Amino acid sequence: MNNRPNSRPSPATRVAQAMRFLDRETGAIVPPVQPSVTFARDEAHDLRRDYMYRRDGNPTTEHAEAMIAELEGAREAMLFASGMSAATAVIDQLDTGAHVVVPEVIYHGVREQFATAHAKGRIVLSTFLPGNLDSLNSAVRPDETRLVWVETPNNPDWTVTDIAAAARIAHGAGAMLLTDCTATPPCATRALDLGADISFHSATKYLAGHTDVTAGVLSVRDAGTFWEGLAHLRKLQGTVLHSFDAWLLIRGMRTLYLRYDRATRNALTMARHFSGHAGLEAVLYPGLPAHPGHEIAARQTGGQFGGMMSVIVKGSEQTAIDVVRACRVFYPATSLGGVESLIEHRKTVSGEGFPVHPRLLRLSVGIEDAEDLIADLEQALATAGAG
Ligand SMILES: *Cc1c(COP(=O)(O)O)cnc(C)c1O
Repeated sequence: MNNRPNSRPSPATRVAQAMRFLDRETGAIVPPVQPSVTFARDEAHDLRRDYMYRRDGNPTTEHAEAMIAELEGAREAMLFASGMSAATAVIDQLDTGAHVVVPEVIYHGVREQFATAHAKGRIVLSTFLPGNLDSLNSAVRPDETRLVWVETPNNPDWTVTDIAAAARIAHGAGAMLLTDCTATPPCATRALDLGADISFHSATKYLAGHTDVTAGVLSVRDAGTFWEGLAHLRKLQGTVLHSFDAWLLIRGMRTLYLRYDRATRNALTMARHFSGHAGLEAVLYPGLPAHPGHEIAARQTGGQFGGMMSVIVKGSEQTAIDVVRACRVFYPATSLGGVESLIEHRKTVSGEGFPVHPRLLRLSVGIEDAEDLIADLEQALATAGAG
């Protein structure tokens, strides 16, 4: 709570007000969308601001970036057309031959990009067991590792990695730490405060929150040469977030705290209800005290565990798929962090060869009435004959 009258408003206030936008000419309090591809020079033939061409960036996207920098406590944030284009820029910016350490289980698209770069001889990849610091410690190579990529909580079983401890290990080896905390956005987890050098988010998810825009963002406190390289790549690859999508993102972020808080409450209610359910082998949710990462997650999210959970269905793989098919309130769709609840059979989505439990269902709990969500999963488990 911020009750000091003369201090700067908190990120919650700043973001709800879109950074207290106010158009001096008209009094409008909503930031406009600026779609122009090109920007005219002034009479002296100078650029009016830094804008020249849309691939360089544009005012609407920069407004969204300022909001994310506020949330992250970052010096700068950079928005891309998707989480994957942001992740790909990071990989492309690594020096050839760079040693990189990533979790053995990780968001499937990111995993595929790293594996491809490794297979082509662009980088050298090692993996560690998610959440396991000893495993991370033995995977890093002092003075050789350039990047440690941590996803926490980790798809799809929500294993938690201690960010501060991972930062110490990465920095001890002379490497950067990048965190992907897409499942617990910066209103809950301020990764840069905890020691991350780069904070990555798929802004498609909680930040935008309405399942109508793809976006990815990187944030840093120290903008060095690696950061400049990323900006250059974004410009040349044309992966800057489009201004209309940036506007939707701005609109979505204004309710981030409300949405995330409600999703967290709903998820906690569901997780408690379904723990020990006869049709389930396990409920994987860091908000449950029984979850192995509970205490670290409580610290890293301020007790705001988010809306992501997974369940392991009793029965066969087909039983698990039948549960998804029987849902009437949860949509049988992939993605996460939107206002509407989604359920997916993760193995179907991540594809063969990806290490995921065949009976795991991933739930993105939205902001609906928790009782409706509980009733839906109850009837779906019964219809599918789980147990
Ligand atoms: C969705 C997601 C990504 C990829 O982001 P897109 O916006 O879909 O390209 C990366 N990491 C995590 C954890 C995600 O959930």
